[in-house]
Amino acid sequence: MIVKVARGVRAGAVGALTTVMLLAGGVIANPAAAAGSRGSAKSYTLSKQGKAVLRWNPCQVIHYRVNLRFAPPGALQDVKTAVATVSKASGITFAYDGTTTVIPMKTYGKNYTPGKAASPVVLAWASPGKGTGTSDLLTSQGDMPQADLAGVGYHQAYWWTDTKGRLHDWRIVTGAAVFNTAFNSLPAGFGSGEPTRGQLILHELGHVMGLMHVDDESQVMFPRMGQESTFGAGDLAGLKKQGKPSGCIR
Ligand SMILES: [Zn+2]
Repeated sequence: MIVKVARGVRAGAVGALTTVMLLAGGVIANPAAAAGSRGSAKSYTLSKQGKAVLRWNPCQVIHYRVNLRFAPPGALQDVKTAVATVSKASGITFAYDGTTTVIPMKTYGKNYTPGKAASPVVLAWASPGKGTGTSDLLTSQGDMPQADLAGVGYHQAYWWTDTKGRLHDWRIVTGAAVFNTAFNSLPAGFGSGEPTRGQLILHELGHVMGLMHVDDESQVMFPRMGQESTFGAGDLAGLKKQGKPSGCIR
């Protein structure tokens, strides 16, 4: 379900971590979600490397682009609504930089030069397999078969030491989400009672922000789609922990 690949941290004192997280669609868990603020505010998992919590510098703007070439109608509106929801929960500002033709692959964001501008977050619709319109991120991982995989979201974090020996602590610098076109028939928007496209986007955006899966099916970060397409109490608490209330990263 969750694959972590820690990369070497010696050469040039540059550390990198890729976290790939998967969401199974296909099979529906049918959670019995409570009304109101769903679940426990403790139901969140933050991405960590050692003791460091991996999060964005909440005092910087997160730039994102969307590849709509293989997206269903109305996808951009759902993306913008999901981003606004994450922004409100975390206190982090986002900037939509327009569309892109990029389809993120496993290599996306790994050419980062510490201290320089990072690649924008890209959200794209793509198919599994090889060739035009595909992403190698949409492959079976762990116990999640490819056919059930509705989307993948990940974040890329670095720490580095600059030429003056100053340590720049862990921070997420980019991320991506890829949505499987096999699930383009998910209902648009954020309605309740069934899995929706909005729920899928919120879940993968959660991974971009540094949220991991939780074993609480009332939360959006549960690894299977459920009946609710708004963040639960744990999702919201996790986003707050990663956001501005926890302070800037210098
Ligand atoms: Zn997931």
